[in-house]
Amino acid sequence: MSILVAGSVALDSIRTPFGNRKEILGGSATFFSMTASFFNKVNIVAAVGEDFPKKYIALLKKKSVGLEGLDIRKGSKTFRWSGKYEYDLGTAHTIATHLNVFRDFDPKVPGSLRRPRALFLANIDPDLQLKVLKQVARPKLVACDSMNYWIQSRRKSLIKLLKNVDVFLLNDGEARQLTGEGNLLKAARRALSYGPKAVVVKKGEHGVIYFSRNYHFISPAYLLETVRDPTGAGDTFAGGMIGYLSTVKGISAPAICRGIAYGSVLASFTVEDFGIDRLRRISMRDIRRRYEHFKKITRF
Ligand code: AMP
Repeated sequence: MSILVAGSVALDSIRTPFGNRKEILGGSATFFSMTASFFNKVNIVAAVGEDFPKKYIALLKKKSVGLEGLDIRKGSKTFRWSGKYEYDLGTAHTIATHLNVFRDFDPKVPGSLRRPRALFLANIDPDLQLKVLKQVARPKLVACDSMNYWIQSRRKSLIKLLKNVDVFLLNDGEARQLTGEGNLLKAARRALSYGPKAVVVKKGEHGVIYFSRNYHFISPAYLLETVRDPTGAGDTFAGGMIGYLSTVKGISAPAICRGIAYGSVLASFTVEDFGIDRLRRISMRDIRRRYEHFKKITRF
């Protein structure tokens, strides 16, 4: 059984101290699906405009990403995001967000995709995330992500969504913004009180913390010599983690730790180059090799 992801498919313009790119393939659903598809079949629910380059459709198809739920809308323009990063590469500074096709998007999950094993509600308007959630039979695992943009503009909808998810992924700044707590442990506890069974707080190059009611786990990030563009790190982390968890029978604590390690490994490939440039070239063999190395350097 497969994974369903609802999120953005975007054209990103990015500036980092190591270069810049204009209108390259991005979006939360894109990054997630390109990584989760190493583990399981992934189908996308999203919309793009008629200006969306055909070469990107071909690329997603080549990576076996299911596009039955991708609505290519005549007369609309694709979602665009532009952002820049300073030297620490820790925080994305949004220059512009053009919702375009997502402004009046009414997601429809095709009948054949309504029974996914895992559902990932990637970063997008929480009202759209809720609409997708309502259309599927309860999956074994529901995870979601969000960002400062939606925490600020759609807080009520996001809190409503959190009542219905198992795993909530967000970065440290967003955890503080959402909960009003400066201390991360307190912020995570507060986030858990909104309903999710677990919260994963992403801390960029400092790794992640997994919190549930009676267990927490800390993982470093995979240490790299070259980091060129952190865009998509969060979504590909989710792709590795949820992708792996969709293949295991029971979601035990050790399985969660392994999922987090796969997430960290996939995110580490993403940031080595702009957009999906590195991801599109890796194989499962590369992933396994880095995973084994990660295991070795984090055990004591
Ligand atoms: P991350 O994994 O957090 O770096 O997410 C990067 C992706 O998020 C980029 O490719 C953007 O296209 C996408 N993105 C940025 N802002 C938004 C937004 N407001 N809604 C949905 N997706 C967004």
